[in-house]
Amino acid sequence: MPILVMKFGGTSVGSLDRIHRAAKRIGREVANGYDVIVIVSAMSGETNKLVGYVEETSPLFDAREYDAVVSSGENVTAGLMALTLQEMDVPARSWQGWQVPVRTTSAHASARIEEIPSDNILAKFSEGMRVAVVAGFQGISPEGRITTLGRGGSDTTAVAFAAAFEAERCDIYTDVDGVYTTDPRITAKARKLDRIAFEEMLELASLGAKVLQTRSVELAMRYNVKLRVLSSFEEPSDEAGTLVCAEEDIVESNVVAGVAYSREEAKLTLTHVEDRPGIAAAIFGPLADAGVNVDMIVQNISDAGTTDMTFSCPVNEVKRAEKALAAAREANEIGFAELIADTEVAKVSIVGIGMRSHAGVAAKMFKTLRDEGINIKVITTSEIKVSVLIDRKYMELAVQALHDAFELDKAA
Ligand code: ADP
Ligand code: ASP
Ligand code: MG
Repeated sequence: MPILVMKFGGTSVGSLDRIHRAAKRIGREVANGYDVIVIVSAMSGETNKLVGYVEETSPLFDAREYDAVVSSGENVTAGLMALTLQEMDVPARSWQGWQVPVRTTSAHASARIEEIPSDNILAKFSEGMRVAVVAGFQGISPEGRITTLGRGGSDTTAVAFAAAFEAERCDIYTDVDGVYTTDPRITAKARKLDRIAFEEMLELASLGAKVLQTRSVELAMRYNVKLRVLSSFEEPSDEAGTLVCAEEDIVESNVVAGVAYSREEAKLTLTHVEDRPGIAAAIFGPLADAGVNVDMIVQNISDAGTTDMTFSCPVNEVKRAEKALAAAREANEIGFAELIADTEVAKVSIVGIGMRSHAGVAAKMFKTLRDEGINIKVITTSEIKVSVLIDRKYMELAVQALHDAFELDKAA
């Protein structure tokens, strides 16, 4: 029988009633003749609660134990979903990541899936089981410990299963009815896209649009998975949701496809860093070793042999960054006068493959922010995106102004 992957996010399984509604939808696909692999998230709010427990217990936690704790939310939903399906006379069984097994790297808290053997689950399908409910977000390391795939990782579990089982489609059921030009929570003018190119979705996701985890889009692109995002609260139809697809499959598109934001950013500046060959390696090596995800980097021009080095990272990694840099200074690997942390910044980005062939897009972005009186602290660009770091209090305003300026409420 053909295989379908259906993934339900936290809100879509946020109560027993919602699990029941999701189960009915799964039952309909079984009746349509599919063997279904269901990937579930933890019930909404659960993972945040578990992360909170860990951080309160141990601020600079051991990531192996973090994974042991935060992976558990998905286990509850998987079991409950299997039970709900059984109550509806749909033959179903749950799997935790290690049981499949979802083999991952040992990079705890942000592990990557390396292999998903299909034999266990396929054997059950051939015995008459119709639904395999798999706990998303988790796997097992080569050392035999539980890993997690980073926040939002159930999307990646879903796409990886769709690739491993050559599923006909991977449907991501969530609390919005597709991918929008920007987060519909920020502006009511956000417009649902019928289609979006893999490259654009990849950028939007990596720049903060949490509707899909970045790695899930990467995998879908690499393995050509038919990926659809749709609402678990609306009646399904063939046109429902957004199809994430190859650029060639999109007829018309705006120069800018969407605006993304990342609220919890921090800007760190090292002042009077010695300007010599190897200084960037001496700074960013220890940060990488400490697991700090450095994003934007700016080095100022040299003045009397020293320079200022500014970089951004997620706000919850600032403590770790400070510790790593203090240790490097202690060990005489780097010298600097001060480390200044600004933890009140956010990143706003515009994304579109049309930028490759249109000049002036960045200038228009900067002019729009100027007209709103918003100061830009750091800028980075790539072929299909421009990102700026601004004061967090202006984030919503910036997103709305850019959405208006690029007329994203209107289709191309
Ligand atoms: P789930 O729990 O189903 O995985 P998430 O909360 O991870 O859901 O992702 C869905 C949310 O992503 C939406 O509620 C929306 O606020 C947010 N979002 C951010 N950017 C976008 C966008 N461009 N299009 C749609 N949703 C977006
Ligand atoms: N429950 C995990 C999280 O909240 C994984 C997911 O929902 O995708 O990040
Ligand atoms: Mg999510």
